[in-house]
Amino acid sequence: KVLGILLCVMLVSSLLGACKSKDTATDSKGKTVGVCMPTKDLQRWNQDGANMKKELEAAGYKVDLQYANNEIATQVNQIENMITGGVDILVIASIDGASLGTVLTDAKKKGIPVIAYDRLIMETDAVSYYATFDNYMVGTIQGEYIIEALDLENQQGPFNIELFTGSPDDNNARFFFAGAMDALNPYIESGKLNVVSGQKEFEEVATLNWSTEAAQSRMENLITAYYADGTPLDAVLSSNDSCAIGITNALVNAGFSKDNFPILTGQDCDITAMKNIIAGLQSMSIFKDTRKLASKVVEMIEAIVSGDEVPVNDTKTYDNGTGIIPTYLCEPVFADINNYKELLIDSGYYTDDQLK
Ligand code: BGC
Repeated sequence: KVLGILLCVMLVSSLLGACKSKDTATDSKGKTVGVCMPTKDLQRWNQDGANMKKELEAAGYKVDLQYANNEIATQVNQIENMITGGVDILVIASIDGASLGTVLTDAKKKGIPVIAYDRLIMETDAVSYYATFDNYMVGTIQGEYIIEALDLENQQGPFNIELFTGSPDDNNARFFFAGAMDALNPYIESGKLNVVSGQKEFEEVATLNWSTEAAQSRMENLITAYYADGTPLDAVLSSNDSCAIGITNALVNAGFSKDNFPILTGQDCDITAMKNIIAGLQSMSIFKDTRKLASKVVEMIEAIVSGDEVPVNDTKTYDNGTGIIPTYLCEPVFADINNYKELLIDSGYYTDDQLK
């Protein structure tokens, strides 16, 4: 009898236990994550959005994925609708990092955690976490690539260079540019590198919306003003591929070919840029494996939902104007003609055919 009672008690408690763990599982699933991406124009954001959706759905979340056509008002509307629609968590790659304060005050009031995706959202304390690639390191790698490629340690030069960075409303652009310039500045100061146009300040070399057309037209103007007389152009720093593609267009139109092409940097490993690299019309591109970033953000969401410690590895760099935002930094690497097959094709990021 005693044994019977004991067995009953054990059975009931194990059933309760099963129910309890099922409850916890239900708690963490069935939640909706709002994912806001800036634009479909750039390949990377399509990949980011698709990866996030795939991973979140596999983990049992509902996903509301929106692209904002690079329009700030559209992004604000989308976020408003998500909040009204009852999303549980927001993941936002902002267009203008400083324009979301008002709408996010609402998210905060409703207790909706906000993860800034790739780009930091500025001037609001509604941001809970930030996940990105090490933006300063992106710039450092680009600067060091130019230093190595021109062998600045050993050559006297002077080598001629022009500088391009990204959108002034994207906090990342300042980090990319600072990383690159911290590497290049000693050579500019020593005279081994010469910025022929003299345009060296962030505001002078920024490209609104990272626009390919804007970069192309600035490069065209630079060629006309400073290089049309045959002055050699040895390197162009570009913070990303959408700008590098415009720069390449301008150079090719002006008669540059793979035989006299300047060292040209980029970022994202966009398919068009990779094809240019293979054709000798761009030198490198920073590879940011968006699969890794998406997985990390999903890990962060899982931790938030289950009340666990959220994975971060940087708590000192990214101040959004209201204080430091705890951040997870993924590590960027570069792809060039020598390693792209291993990095991009063997890893399954692209197929061979996509780059043909
Ligand atoms: C991203 C880059 C991208 C650029 C333009 C930046 O915030 O970090 O990967 O090339 O935006 O979309």
